[in-house]
Amino acid sequence: MSDVTKILDELAAGSVTSESLVIQCFQTIKSKNDDIFAFVRTYEDEAMAAAKASDARRNEGKPLSRIDGLPIAIKDNFSYQDHVTSSGSNILKNYEAPFDATVVAKLKEAGADIIGQTNMDEFAMGSSTENSAFGVTKNPFDATRVAGGSSGGAAAAVATDMAPLSFGSDTGGSIRQPAAFCGVVGLKPTYGAVSRYGLHALASSLDQIGPLASSVDGVEIGYEAIQGFDPLDSTSKKAESVPVKEHYTIGVPKQFMAEGTDSRILNALNKTLDKLEAAGHTIKRDIDLQILEQSVAIYYIILPAEASANLARYDGIRFGSHGNDVIDSRSQGFGPEVKRRIMLGTYALSAGYADKFYKRAQSARAKLTQELLEVLESVDVLIGPVVPELPFKIGAKQSDPLAMYLSDIYTIPVNLAGLPGLTMPVTTTEEDGVQLPIALQIIGRPWSEKQLFSVGRIIEHNKGAS
Ligand code: GLN
Repeated sequence: MSDVTKILDELAAGSVTSESLVIQCFQTIKSKNDDIFAFVRTYEDEAMAAAKASDARRNEGKPLSRIDGLPIAIKDNFSYQDHVTSSGSNILKNYEAPFDATVVAKLKEAGADIIGQTNMDEFAMGSSTENSAFGVTKNPFDATRVAGGSSGGAAAAVATDMAPLSFGSDTGGSIRQPAAFCGVVGLKPTYGAVSRYGLHALASSLDQIGPLASSVDGVEIGYEAIQGFDPLDSTSKKAESVPVKEHYTIGVPKQFMAEGTDSRILNALNKTLDKLEAAGHTIKRDIDLQILEQSVAIYYIILPAEASANLARYDGIRFGSHGNDVIDSRSQGFGPEVKRRIMLGTYALSAGYADKFYKRAQSARAKLTQELLEVLESVDVLIGPVVPELPFKIGAKQSDPLAMYLSDIYTIPVNLAGLPGLTMPVTTTEEDGVQLPIALQIIGRPWSEKQLFSVGRIIEHNKGAS
């Protein structure tokens, strides 16, 4: 299956039907999902019915949305009415959502064909999808490696052509990191740009839903379909617009070239910057943002604090009944990483410690946000790596949570500051006889999504040139 824009052109030209696209997706799912495990649940009959309805609308000349008839996948933490929505957790394995998340409602209304729900780390806690209660998603480039996480299924579904467009959530990198590991494009939008209503909350001040596709254009189409003010989400905001330019000033914080980052990733970054410079863009390589070094420490106080409060609702009474009581339900229903974060968060918020940890992290977050926003007044965008390393082996970090957390070093600042971040593959490199993808991240000021797409397209066009 090809790229979203090509598919939409073919649908418009009548050379393919939505029904044929759904058939094709399910052929791929049947041949690959058992190995890759991108989807936890698929809905062939429902997707076929949606496709036929879209084809009928098209044949009758009815008004069509941009993504009418496009097969899409949603992450297992988007409330999907009358469907099990389990956030990769045993505690919700039988939970059917009684309503649609705003994003799901928008996608349905736009006439997209929802083909299934994708695998994820339990409650979106993780960077490898190994924390899913239902199984590990494999990296499409090398099945002995992780697909990244927490939206590993969403990224692998696009990378393997099971779906041309998928939607994930990103709290500290969960769209961008798996997109990077699977060689696809992913966007974490500006905080408040996409409704969080009906998204299972991990850390409400950080969570955002965003698209993954095989091209920047595809991601832009996905973003346009889901963004917009929603009165049902109290943190939703009205969009502003940051104009697209012909030439950009691009900043590279020194801290984005941190020691320990794989040299092949830094080489790819430098090559891309050189090409951008040759194409007439201004590169500022001397940006010093020392506070970025604190990002992981800040995030791993704020995230567990918010998560421990958000996950209190899974008490075995309102949600997630297991065993005989609350303790049983939570001890049997949650996996080890979720328990670890609930304990960390409860500790960080407990009497006597809240000032020492939580409030301190909040003030450091405010400082980080302010410094990033200041830098983004002197440059249009920042560019850097997405992850300091190539996709790692399944199991490699399971016994070392800190090593896992450190892999979020370049993605976390974007969430802490509420900025948009676009990640895209730029090249591949060989390791152990297989080609693995290398990606870069473009970060902008709030509401600069259009600029990110524009810079992303420039990078896509210059990819081959050397
Ligand atoms: N890997 C990060 C974490 O474990 C990010 C998760 C996310 O963005 N949902 O918290």
